[in-house]
Parts: sequence; C-alpha cells; structure tokens
Amino acid sequence: MSKKIDETEPDYEKDPPFHPRKVTYCKERKLNQFYDIYPNKELGRGKFGTVCECREKSSSKILAAKTINIKKPQERKEVENEIAVMCQLQHPRLLQLYDAFDDGSNIILITELIAGGELFERVIDDEFILTEKVCTIFMRQICEGVDFMHRQKVIHLDMKPENILCLTQNSNRIKLIDFGLARHYDPNSNVKVMFGTPEFVAPEVVNFERITPATDMWSVGVICYILLSGLSPFMGDNDGETLSNVTQAEWDFNDESFDAISDDAKDFITKLLVKQPEKRMTAAQCLNHKWLKRPSNRRPSLLPGTKGDVDENKALSKVKLKHFVIRRRWQKAVNTILAIHRMKVATIH
Ligand code: ATP
Ligand code: MG
Repeated sequence: MSKKIDETEPDYEKDPPFHPRKVTYCKERKLNQFYDIYPNKELGRGKFGTVCECREKSSSKILAAKTINIKKPQERKEVENEIAVMCQLQHPRLLQLYDAFDDGSNIILITELIAGGELFERVIDDEFILTEKVCTIFMRQICEGVDFMHRQKVIHLDMKPENILCLTQNSNRIKLIDFGLARHYDPNSNVKVMFGTPEFVAPEVVNFERITPATDMWSVGVICYILLSGLSPFMGDNDGETLSNVTQAEWDFNDESFDAISDDAKDFITKLLVKQPEKRMTAAQCLNHKWLKRPSNRRPSLLPGTKGDVDENKALSKVKLKHFVIRRRWQKAVNTILAIHRMKVATIH
C-alpha cells in the first residue's frame, strides 16, 4: 500500500451516528436483555474502565460498552456525574452516550463505537504522513469539541492523547472521549481538583488553585506541542520532577524538531502554554487563530523555502513521536498491572 496524506477537510454531514438520547439508568433493566457484550473484542482500557464492542439486540447496532467497577459509593457518584455530563454534551466532536446500566457492582456505559483507534497511534503508523497541515485539521477539531464543552460550562480535566480517537482508520475526523473527570464550571465557585495526568495537567492543578476552562487549554497546548515535535514539554524522570517542571511553566522550542515548524504554529502553542490561566487563549480564540483558520479564511502561505516561513505540506519526522507513544504504552501497561494488583489486594482484605 502506498503512503497517504489525508489533508481533506472533515466531512461533518455524517454525524451523529444516532439521534441524541436522554439516558437514565435503573437497576431493573438488565444489560444482557438488550445488548450482546463481546469481551474478546476489547477496544481499550483506562484507569477506571474496560471498553469492548457490543451489539444492541433490537437494532443490531454495533456500539461500545465501558464497564466501570464500583467499590465505593463515591465511585458511583463519579460515574453518575460522567453520565450527566455526557447527556449534556451532544456534539459531533464529542463521544455520544447511548445507554447506561447498573448491575450492582459495575456501571456500564453504552456509547457510540469509534473504530479508528487513538489519534497518536494512527499518526505514527508508517502509512500515515504527518504534515503541519494535517495537525491543523486535528487541532481545529479538538478546539471545536472543547469550545462546545466550555460553552456548556463543562471542563474536561483529562485532555490527553489517549482521549482523542479517530472515527475510522482512514479518515482524519476525531472525537474527544472520557468525561470521567469532567466538572461543571460555575464562575462564582472556587473548585480545585487533585487529579489528571502529570505531563498534561496545568500549573493551577498542581498548585491546587482554582480550575477554569483555561485548565483544559493548557493541556491542548501540550498535546499540540507533542503532535508537532514528538517531545513532551514538561516530562521529567519521574512524576515529581514532571509536576515541578509544570509549576515552573518553563519550556522552549530549542529542539531541532521545531526547525520545520511554522511561526504560526509556534505562536499558537505560545499563547496556550501560559502560566496565568486568564492569559491563555480560549478555545474560541484558538479557532480564530491564524494557524487554525479554515483554508478559505487564511492568508496564502508563502512559497516553500521562502525565508521566514516553512512548507506546511512537508512531511514531519515521526521518530520522536513514535518514542513518545511507545513510552505511553508502557506507562499504561504498568498502570493496568498496578490497578489489577490493587483490586486483588482489596478483594483479599
Ligand atoms: P483514563 O485512564 O484515561 O481515565 P478511563 O478508564 O476513563 O480512562 P476511557 O478513556 O473512557 O477510560 O477508555 C479507555 C480507552 O478505551 C480509551 O483510551 C480508548 O482507547 C478506548 N475507548 C474508549 N471509548 C471508546 C469508544 N467509544 N470506541 C472505541 N474505543 C474506545
Ligand atoms: Mg481515558
């Protein structure tokens, strides 16, 4: 198969996969009366849930089932929050909830199936050619999803590459998933949180200061930095060091990977990785930034090789991004082993 650059603009017409639904769950409804679950068709795993394919018996629709084991009442509350947030977020760039069940020890969320896998896994595939233009197509969709969430007064709080999926293996349409840590945002309240993934969390989370929609925008900046360069801007030798790098908010474009990156892209990142949350670009401002504007609205780029600009259609090196993805895979595997171990310990005691 020949290598392929897919720089076509996403086709929004095909969404959504089903009409928006108001989902409520009650213990009386039995999951296997309505769905066949296929545990051997696993789609992924996270800290909280295992996701596999399933089929709605009445319609034969193929969907995804995320099973979250519940041990404490607080955990049930968290999943109820995830359901409430998802019900509110009906948008083509955000994972849509279809149904929910409670079997006593697990809550099962039935959602649309997103078959293309995680964005970064797709991008590092040898068949995929990564260009700066493709990055703008991805980043624009990410900002569209985040902008909608923020307009609905929801903060995601877990924006990271594993939570960005490709719709199919050969389209460049993406969706944001995993609303497990999402919070409603009330501008008058002073919400602080103590969770997230060290490489992607904003300084205000580490410092246990007030979180706002800007907290997600920091993570969007980190994702963009990694997508373009393969380097993680705050990564230290351990979590403590990473968190300390985040609070210092010091980073740069010194690596040679950035030689191939345009000034517009650098300006975009620079306006997101800003320590003071109120000075960061909002998602709406990102969509209006010159780097992300739709091609028809953009000024024509200078010819390739012209001094002061770069060719945004040139293939970027993916060597460092591959290393990044492999390292994250390892981290995930270790986290899964630790989670299984904790479960075993909890069952024994
Ligand atoms: P985390 O560890 O990030 O908190 P989690 O336990 O809340 O994760 P999710 O992030 O929702 O779980 O799902 C785990 C993984 O399963 C995802 O990273 C993704 O690879 C896969 N996945 C989740 N939902 C879907 C879906 N609807 N379709 C396809 N794959 C999915
Ligand atoms: Mg996740």
